[in-house]
Amino acid sequence: MSGPGTAFVVSGPSGAGKSTLLGRVLATDPGVRFSISHTTRAPRPGEVEGRHYHFATRQEFQELIDRGAFVEWAEYNDNLYGTSRQAVEGPTSEGRDLILEVEVQGAAQLRERLDGAIFVFIMPPSLEVLEERLRGRGSDGESIIVKRLERAREELRQIRLYDYVVVNDDIERATQELLHVIGARRVERDRVLPGLADRFDFG
Ligand code: 5GP
Repeated sequence: MSGPGTAFVVSGPSGAGKSTLLGRVLATDPGVRFSISHTTRAPRPGEVEGRHYHFATRQEFQELIDRGAFVEWAEYNDNLYGTSRQAVEGPTSEGRDLILEVEVQGAAQLRERLDGAIFVFIMPPSLEVLEERLRGRGSDGESIIVKRLERAREELRQIRLYDYVVVNDDIERATQELLHVIGARRVERDRVLPGLADRFDFG
């Protein structure tokens, strides 16, 4: 492997099982890191500053926007979320692959701005299963569940923005599929040949 690392931009509706899937991929492949976003939402129980997110006030977030610190940012459920240039440029320039978990508006911005990034959409097996999963969490009221389902339908309309689609009906298979997407990128010809040029003459 040689050259800069790749940014893998991963989106999918709430309830598609993204966090579990990404947790498994990160635990399996030591060559890939998770990009830590900024957000104005409050930390959930168990979330750690600098590990899950950089938690910021609206004012702090706005200052970062004004300084041009973000490569993308978006509003989602009344909170702001953004990826700092630093979060992406540091690790990828050191040759590390990076997973950016962003919603679709952020992914659309990254499509324009991040050369060479790979876009992966995580799908629930069906809208019925998505609804069951959202209800199964037991933590959200009816109006929030209806809002999340509406949002999921909207996000599905943006799916053509993505290069790969992983259907998360079986977590083990979905994990393998995402690992394969990452692995395939690493063996693309133009990434491999520079590392072989001292031993082979490719003409
Ligand atoms: P949550 O509040 O559940 O952690 O995240 C809500 C949504 O925001 C998820 O769809 C997640 O992928 C998205 N998100 C997390 N970080 C970022 C970011 O840096 N930029 C954008 N655009 N979306 C993000």
